[in-house]
Amino acid sequence: MNKEALFYEVNGDKIHCHLCPHSCVLKADQRGICKVRIALQEDELKLYTENYAEITSLAVDPIEKKPLYEFHSGSMVLSIGSFGCNFTCSFCQNHAISQVRPQSTTVTPDHLLQILDEVDEEVSNNIGVAFTYNEPSIWFEYVLDCAKLIKTQRPQKKIVMVTNGFINEEPLNALLPYVDAFNIDLKGNDDYYRTLCTGRLHPVMDSITRCVHAGKHVEVTTLLVQDENTDIQTITQFGDFLANLNPNIPIHLSRYFPNYKLENEATSLAQMKQVYDYLSGILTHVYVGNVSQEEKEHIMGNQWC
Ligand code: SF4
Repeated sequence: MNKEALFYEVNGDKIHCHLCPHSCVLKADQRGICKVRIALQEDELKLYTENYAEITSLAVDPIEKKPLYEFHSGSMVLSIGSFGCNFTCSFCQNHAISQVRPQSTTVTPDHLLQILDEVDEEVSNNIGVAFTYNEPSIWFEYVLDCAKLIKTQRPQKKIVMVTNGFINEEPLNALLPYVDAFNIDLKGNDDYYRTLCTGRLHPVMDSITRCVHAGKHVEVTTLLVQDENTDIQTITQFGDFLANLNPNIPIHLSRYFPNYKLENEATSLAQMKQVYDYLSGILTHVYVGNVSQEEKEHIMGNQWC
């Protein structure tokens, strides 16, 4: 459903979107890089979000699947996603909802609250709602409305965002009072972001810093892609950045397998182990994912047992 967007201004016949660092400038009928915000000229030129209340995926997942390993572990979370993304990662695991517009179901914030109550009747350890699957920061207006409603009506419930962190300071600040926990991707160096994702590194580091400084629970995920982001310079940069913020920030090292447009071979266990060994020397919570139990034990050694 279309809803007028927040965080934009009109300059003559153009709209300037301020939601994310792409800062798209749009004429009537043009969409932003995220593919879900469109400038429309009716009585006046306005920016609309097209994915407001549109849900493509809904499931009750273990919180560890987000992944959040140090936040209410053992609990479940109602997880929902929409469509669209402000990145175009060539290895996207969710490209069927992030890069195209699939079928969706309209679920208003009031309806989501009702679904949450129904889930709670069935699942005693459901802690709240996670906005995940596609990029929730470009689902901004819906996430904000739902999070505010849930925090007002069911204050004991938790709100989680699984995000690429590519959002401007002002909109992020508007969300922070209503979000309890974030998993934020830290994908690669700036060149990696620009060439593989249509993004930039430093706005993401700024978002991680803001969430941590706001006292939010933050975990970080890095998809390790063979020969793309496993070099010592990148890993040192990530390790130093997180250790300086707080060495207790959990990082999840996820193993890449060929997917979507990227055909690099699957990341070797040797590269996974090299990165794990380095980061676990300076961070207290380093996890590996997308590997078998046997591979996990190989990479993490006795610490996992
Ligand atoms: S949210 Fe979308 S339209 Fe707005 S600046 Fe980002 S990519 Fe462009």
